[in-house]
Amino acid sequence: MTPARTIGCDSCGVVQGIPVLDDGKSARCVRCGSVLERRRGTSIRTAMVLSIAALMIVGWLALRALTDRRIDIELLVPSAQGVRTGDTHVDYKGLEIGSVSDIRPAIRPHSPGRSDK
Ligand SMILES: [Zn+2]
Repeated sequence: MTPARTIGCDSCGVVQGIPVLDDGKSARCVRCGSVLERRRGTSIRTAMVLSIAALMIVGWLALRALTDRRIDIELLVPSAQGVRTGDTHVDYKGLEIGSVSDIRPAIRPHSPGRSDK
């Protein structure tokens, strides 16, 4: 094993050669045994897994954006008489564009000219 470069030990100061390290291996000082350099084994693999996961999430979000084109519209009308959820269809220029999914009474703000007596 030929030394790839020389490095000084932070603990005892001995300058020594260390080889090119494989993933997950470490180099120790010949005199005191301190770790001179450590190479993590999963950095590239972890980065690849995270990249693939990110691509899958982005793909899933793009697919959802293309297939789920639902728009909720809130319509205020004076009377909802005859309107039934799931049964009443909404037409626009002769084309059915949706249906009524919810009917709620509107809460009106207190008007200043009106008395609640
Ligand atoms: Zn040392």
